[in-house]
Amino acid sequence: MIYTDLNTEIDVGSSGHLLEFGPFRALVDCGLHPKRMGVHSLPNFSKIQPETLDFIAVTHAHLDHCGALPVIAREQNHAHILISEEGFELTLRMLRNSKNVMSKQREEFGIKEYPLFDYSAIDALRPRIIPMAYGRSRCFEIDSVPVNITFSPAGHIPGAASVLFEYKKRRVLFSGDISFHSTSVLKGAVPPDGKVDVLVVETTRGSYSRPEGSSYDGEVERLVASISRVIRDGATVLIPAFALGRMQEILFIIKTAKDRGAIPKDTPVYAGGLGLDIAEHFIRGSKRSSTFFFGKQHMEGVIPLREEIIPGKEFENNGIYVLGSGMMVEKTPSYLAASAVMENRSNAIFFVGYADPDTPASRMLNTPTGGQFRFRDLFHVGNLNCRIDKFDLTSHADRDEILSFILEKDPRCVVLTHGSEESREWFMDQILDISPKTEVIIPQPSESFEI
Ligand SMILES: [Zn+2]
Ligand SMILES: [Zn+2]
Repeated sequence: MIYTDLNTEIDVGSSGHLLEFGPFRALVDCGLHPKRMGVHSLPNFSKIQPETLDFIAVTHAHLDHCGALPVIAREQNHAHILISEEGFELTLRMLRNSKNVMSKQREEFGIKEYPLFDYSAIDALRPRIIPMAYGRSRCFEIDSVPVNITFSPAGHIPGAASVLFEYKKRRVLFSGDISFHSTSVLKGAVPPDGKVDVLVVETTRGSYSRPEGSSYDGEVERLVASISRVIRDGATVLIPAFALGRMQEILFIIKTAKDRGAIPKDTPVYAGGLGLDIAEHFIRGSKRSSTFFFGKQHMEGVIPLREEIIPGKEFENNGIYVLGSGMMVEKTPSYLAASAVMENRSNAIFFVGYADPDTPASRMLNTPTGGQFRFRDLFHVGNLNCRIDKFDLTSHADRDEILSFILEKDPRCVVLTHGSEESREWFMDQILDISPKTEVIIPQPSESFEI
């Protein structure tokens, strides 16, 4: 078997793994790099000749895993596209949003190749997708040679999957983005039973150690108590939240906290944009899924935000504002809203997701109370007087959990992907310490390995 990492850098970047075995060629994930533009955001597809893939397996609907699907699918017309049943519609919805964003960026930055695909390319995917039921192995054959492929729940976000290939008694497992703890909305991962020969695993949190005593449930309680304090003071809380997964989770947490009286029942909750649309998908998908739970009742009382946000001008109504994007990227509602919320010392901005060092969210977290914060493209400077806090509700497994997972699967070979170099090296040291005979690979971009 030959493995090639198509990500163009050693980072979280644009996921893409090529696996070649016997007569088969499979691509696992085909993401767009969130920090790059145009063709530079694609994985290295030059490693794949046109019309040579048999499978394109998509682990989940985050764009760094599925964003380039229409691009690769149109060059690989015979490839089966495999997506979990729960992830099917979410993936198509995210691709449509991505097309819209690219069309806007074409105007704004003059990127001629944008959009990389149009709606028709997304629509053309639908009849080609084979929805994979979790835990149910499917056999595919070429010239009477069989391979079994199984999707299993990976936690992380609804529809996320780990993907197992079984070929001639060899088992190769791709973890995808994975999380073992259950959240308010979603059950934790249930990986396939038994040992595997090769494990291709994510390492997002390899350079972060969760402080002693901290837990998901503890962080949820701390968030609820913090929101409650601000609301009881008659002020406003802004929660920047990623539209897919995190926004619905936060709305779920707020609703259940209201139901038990931990947050005043009459607190207005505002939300907006793509996240509301994804919530509708969750409500529909949840009825058929045993891995996540999100009902109409969790959106009860959520008010779509219609008020125009004017930089520096406070909202007309106090309450809780759950707005995209999670990293407060320029021009998004949460970025604009921050300028409206931050000057009043009674207000608060609570971050609930990862903040990349280059983003406004990270800049704000590093600004001292009372310090100036510059909204460069709004030509607005404000004083950061409100309370700022961050809560660790990560949707990735902690490094110790991933390490236990690796040891339990007892692979002959581990391929460390989807993390910084530092994160991957932490895992490599740990694995070799405990199990020196294991082959541990940190793949260089586009380099192929016999596994
Ligand atoms: Zn993800
Ligand atoms: Zn990812």
